Amino acid sequence: MRVLLLMPPMTQLNAPYPATAFLTGFLRSRGVECFQADLAIELVCRLFSREGLCRDAACRVSTTKYLDTIDPVVRFLQGKDPTLALRIVSRTFLPEGPRFAVLDEMDDPLTWAFGALGSQDQAKFLATLYLTDLSDLVREHIDPRFELSRYAEKLAVSAPTFEALHAELQKPATHVDQLLAELTKEACEKHKPDLVGITAPFPGNVYGAFRMAQAVRQWMPSVKLAFGGGYPSTELRELKDPRVFNFFDYVTLDAGEAPLLGIIGKEKLNNTFTRENGAVVFHSPILPIPHSEIGVPTYDGLPLDQYMSVFEMLNPMHRIWSDGRWNKLMVAYGCYWSQCTFCDTKLDYIERFSKAPAKLLVDRMEAMIAETGQRGFHFVDEAAPPAMLKALAEEIIARGLVVTWWGNIRFEKSFTKSLCALMARSGCVAVSGGLEVAEDRLLKLIKKGVTVEQVARVTKHFTDAGIMVHAYLMYGYPTQTEKETVNSLEMVRQLFEAGCIQSGFWHRFALTAHSPIAADPDAFGIKLLPEPPASFARNEIPFEDPVHCDHDRLGEGLRVSLYNFMHGVGLEKDVRAWFTHKAPKPTVPHNFIANALREAH
Ligand code: SF4
Repeated sequence: MRVLLLMPPMTQLNAPYPATAFLTGFLRSRGVECFQADLAIELVCRLFSREGLCRDAACRVSTTKYLDTIDPVVRFLQGKDPTLALRIVSRTFLPEGPRFAVLDEMDDPLTWAFGALGSQDQAKFLATLYLTDLSDLVREHIDPRFELSRYAEKLAVSAPTFEALHAELQKPATHVDQLLAELTKEACEKHKPDLVGITAPFPGNVYGAFRMAQAVRQWMPSVKLAFGGGYPSTELRELKDPRVFNFFDYVTLDAGEAPLLGIIGKEKLNNTFTRENGAVVFHSPILPIPHSEIGVPTYDGLPLDQYMSVFEMLNPMHRIWSDGRWNKLMVAYGCYWSQCTFCDTKLDYIERFSKAPAKLLVDRMEAMIAETGQRGFHFVDEAAPPAMLKALAEEIIARGLVVTWWGNIRFEKSFTKSLCALMARSGCVAVSGGLEVAEDRLLKLIKKGVTVEQVARVTKHFTDAGIMVHAYLMYGYPTQTEKETVNSLEMVRQLFEAGCIQSGFWHRFALTAHSPIAADPDAFGIKLLPEPPASFARNEIPFEDPVHCDHDRLGEGLRVSLYNFMHGVGLEKDVRAWFTHKAPKPTVPHNFIANALREAH
């Protein structure tokens, strides 16, 4: 059986999303003929070309200003024409649309960020603004669902029924849909699969995945179709609507290895929904494949020279998400902590912890370097365990391997000064981790297993070792008061001021179906509200919080302040100044973080 694994639009522009690479490597290691294609990057390249923009009359008219520059700019962002940087930084080559207004928000930000010689980076930043302007035009005139990193996300977010998505799929295809159908057809004609697997990690991939399935059904009706990945695994666990199976024959849950073996007949069908006699049927899971047996991810078949390094924000830590073509690997599957009360701790991708020895991991790194020629690695773990990172760093150093790597961790005490220095020596340049609500009462409720003081010390160890730190932040946790949010912002301000963290992102708390809070809402002082009956997706659950804090009112101030902190601006200001209403005075001592660091000395 020939298997073709496809990535739907949209994801990141700079590197392939790892799902198809992992599964292709695994299936080939089991002797299956497996191929892959990333239609997300292929769609961007086809649309953002003179030919792609001109093919549709309305598109050509609305993007006329861009037609002469789009091909060279894409080549530049793909790293194929570095000399164009000098023309781009002249500011006379590219049309400048509304996105360039960001340059007026600060005092001469380009000189501040890039100085006199950083023309490559400056040009990448300007070309990214240009591309974002162009994608805004496509959204405005051609397809209102189009964004550079997600496609028609709204249709799949909190969608208890299939109705809206189904209705949208019956509408005539837009120019973007047509290009996607054409790419799907080309991939199928090239690989002649018996089974096409489409993965949807996020809600912003779901509409594209269904459009692709529609195209396969139309052009190759005998081909079987499977749908899997992060979105079905979190949201479609209670799937009941049989119409989904007009598009797909199988919907799989959790890690794809075992369910795919079931579909191709090497195992019994498992962890998979099918339709039988018009009703949706679930085939229960079997033992999953351990992390040590998943094989080496392969990028074979992916267009590695087409990915574009974009530079969305003038912040050195933030940029590494979108700049550079990182090979993706996992130190371990799942989360060794699995306790945070807002997290999907009941789901396989968190709950099941499965690791591989450091020697095997470094073997996988060497195999990927040999295949791609790239020595940068992004470890896409939920949270990589410190002991394993230590073993990994030692193995990299022992083999004399020159690599650059970063990944997600918890801010554990065990990240001592010496461990951070060892990691830096082995090539670690950045870590990201959850600080969530920087307030000790709530950190305890979250069962984060850290205090703000501890986070301050650990993050300082990293930055002192030359490793940049990104913090995931949260607001709106059950029973969180406005004062606690202001205190949390004050802690974040102090962490930036003390040089402990370099970047961050505020997430609004959402109560999800597979979290400990949803299982025991009383323990967190909230009441679950009735949900609409779900026959399609179920994930976010409505709830009532007796504290009645207006978190929406605080969100914008949190976002703007953090944006400024990441640019080194406004750190001296009273944090209340970031809110448009009269916010409460923070009660955190002004030198809390500085004292915590001093005591640690
Ligand atoms: S939030 Fe992170 S550390 Fe906490 S349980 Fe989830 S994956 Fe693990």
